[in-house]
Amino acid sequence: MRPVLADIFAAAQVIAGVADRTPLVPSPYMSGVVGADFLLKLENMQPIGAFKLRGALNAVAGAQDAAGVTCCSTGNHGRGVAYAARARGLRAVICMSELVPQAKVDGIRALGAEVRIVGRSQDAAQAEAARLVAEDGLTEISPFDDALVIAGQGTIGLEIMAARPDLETLLIPLSGGGLAAGVALAAKTIKPDLRVIGISMDRGAAMYESLRAGHPVEVEEVPSLADSLGGGIGMENRLSFAMCRDLLDDVILVTEEEIYTAMQVLYYEDRIVAEGACVVGIAAVLSGKVVPKGPTATIITGRNLDMAMFTRVITGQDVVLGDKVIQGKTYGT
Ligand SMILES: *Cc1c(COP(=O)(O)O)cnc(C)c1O
Repeated sequence: MRPVLADIFAAAQVIAGVADRTPLVPSPYMSGVVGADFLLKLENMQPIGAFKLRGALNAVAGAQDAAGVTCCSTGNHGRGVAYAARARGLRAVICMSELVPQAKVDGIRALGAEVRIVGRSQDAAQAEAARLVAEDGLTEISPFDDALVIAGQGTIGLEIMAARPDLETLLIPLSGGGLAAGVALAAKTIKPDLRVIGISMDRGAAMYESLRAGHPVEVEEVPSLADSLGGGIGMENRLSFAMCRDLLDDVILVTEEEIYTAMQVLYYEDRIVAEGACVVGIAAVLSGKVVPKGPTATIITGRNLDMAMFTRVITGQDVVLGDKVIQGKTYGT
């Protein structure tokens, strides 16, 4: 069932004490660009380095009677589920394929989860998670298409609106849409005339293409500086697609070059180390694709990035992403 504002208030109670109420800090540089306060919600400071802990904690609480929880994400969602399950004393099994880099396997294991390595594709890992649900009674937690996950992510919207009721524009990084659905639900129920815009990279933007088509569609996944925004929305999407369709005022796409520059801006102007996925809101404003009115906020969603890649970006070197080359550019030149 589609969550409502009361579910988000309930989630805030559930996650309190494990997920942090993160700071909402002004970016002086971006405030100068916009001509009004531009605020950064620092979810990169959560214990797992990303906001996904919120949704995972709320969903794990809903699975308290199950034999455990499972998922097949190797990224921030897998980290969130592992951390949340350990915090609540529940078994977590994270399924992944043999192709997943050892560093990611170790990272999830270090958070206390069991890692199950099966087959050579994401589909094989997904099949193993389904088997754990059917045969062992575990509950699978979706990274974005789940009412409890959406309500958990929505607590970010409550915190932003409590701190800045005068906010006029909210820019949200968009992939599967659990974050955007929850935050937009909270923020727009509290302030209906708030402008809420979802932002994705222009290569492989599944939600954008699905909204255009009017139903979930598959897109080809390609490497991106905003790798946390990759992946599909699920052809059987139940909640996040309809909520994004109904709640977002617009969805904007930014290029890899625009993300590259915005990562430099966030680093050199605000001294923040964050994933490419976090800076799409900044990229949209700097490129002129979004012209915010009044006080504006964006969500710095996570910090779990490849430091070798990050070093290349901030030192102005070329970055190769599959068949795409981003031309290097030293900041400020
Ligand atoms: C998951 C994630 C997103 C996107 O969230 P969705 O709910 O899938 O739209 C953005 N940034 C980071 C760092 C993430 O891990």
